[in-house]
Amino acid sequence: MATVLGCIADDFTGATDLAALLARSGLPVSLRIGVPAETEGVADAAAFEVVALKSRTVPVDDAIAQTRQAYAWLKKAGATRFFWKYCSTFDSTAEGNIGPVAEMLMAELGATQTIYCPAFPENGRSVFMGHLFVGEQLLSESPMRDHPLTPMRDSSLVRLLAPQVHKKVGLANRLVVAEGTEALQARLETLAAEGVMHVITDAVSDQDLETIAAATANLPLLTGGSAIAGKLPRLYLEQGVVEPSAARSSDSLPKGGQLVLSGSCSAMTRKQVAYYAGKSASLRLDPVALAGEGVGPTEAWLQRRSAEEPKLIFATAEPEEVRKAQEKLGFEKASQLVEQVLADLARQAFQSGVRRFVVAGGETSGAVIQALGIKRLEIGPEIAPGVPWTFAELEGERVALALKSGNFGGEAFFEDAFKLLEAA
Ligand code: ADP
Repeated sequence: MATVLGCIADDFTGATDLAALLARSGLPVSLRIGVPAETEGVADAAAFEVVALKSRTVPVDDAIAQTRQAYAWLKKAGATRFFWKYCSTFDSTAEGNIGPVAEMLMAELGATQTIYCPAFPENGRSVFMGHLFVGEQLLSESPMRDHPLTPMRDSSLVRLLAPQVHKKVGLANRLVVAEGTEALQARLETLAAEGVMHVITDAVSDQDLETIAAATANLPLLTGGSAIAGKLPRLYLEQGVVEPSAARSSDSLPKGGQLVLSGSCSAMTRKQVAYYAGKSASLRLDPVALAGEGVGPTEAWLQRRSAEEPKLIFATAEPEEVRKAQEKLGFEKASQLVEQVLADLARQAFQSGVRRFVVAGGETSGAVIQALGIKRLEIGPEIAPGVPWTFAELEGERVALALKSGNFGGEAFFEDAFKLLEAA
């Protein structure tokens, strides 16, 4: 099937979040980790394809080059409409990659205007009069002001974007959006006549997103957070751009053993680990002990258990313990050791018949995916907002992976995940 919408995301968890929202439609969504080689996978491309890059904080030229490759692949897969996905808090460095990448894509597509819609009202990200809010706080007064890589010290999207692009930046504010699709389209035309190619769109509610999507669905390029993209599949179905028959089937759900691996120390993951440890065989990893005695005892523990038995292996610890491990081993070494061990265990578990994995931690998930050599994920049912089951082919076997970063999901997330797969 040819791709309808080609999406490019500037980081992995952002790509997963976007893919999950697109997949709420029931239509086929596939996620590529990095740009596939040449024509690899083009023949079985999904209606919605998401390419996950790691370009948020790389130098501008590098981000442009990576995105150009992703664009070229998506075009080969058949995409005629494109979505450039960045964070709902507009994370970018001062030089910024959001604007330059958008301008490159516009040039490739011959687009004369695009929108910037990071708003995600369901998650407390809204844009009003061009200013981005996190909950009730301005972006520049939220914890994002102290982000280690992309400190956001201004909340005005017009001011943030203007220095990143060559053409004029303008605003379609909430008063216009609230008037509806036609009013917004008229505003976009007025701005176009004034030479404004980059339009920030206000949105404070889900209804605003519906209006914006309806007014702009036919533009060759849209940019923003995952929430606005999530409105596109239904519109495409209504417009006949995509066939309902393209809906994915739930055949061939992976059967076989199960395992939870957790390398996340976020507050919600700590609760999830405590909950699930009471319901399954569980093993706690101590990075200091691992550094001393190696991974042997952990591997032996895993080998003693059957593939089918519910199991949890976690490095998840309270901040005090994490600090101690970091002091003893060094920050980098402690993290890498844990990631490496969990990734190796995933590999070993696969060899012994485990086919359903839940992995907690953004970086941890990246390490596991890499160790398993997975390049493509097909998006399945959503376990919790923003966290879907994903499916992959691995050495001719079908594998299910739930990749959860930081604070996503409720206390019973691990259990919910397996229940959902069994019920599907
Ligand atoms: P999150 O999505 O919650 O941020 P990540 O996997 O991205 O989780 O990051 C957690 C990091 O903490 C990983 O690099 C992991 O290896 C490291 N880590 C996990 N447990 C420990 C521990 N007990 N001591 C030190 N570092 C740890």
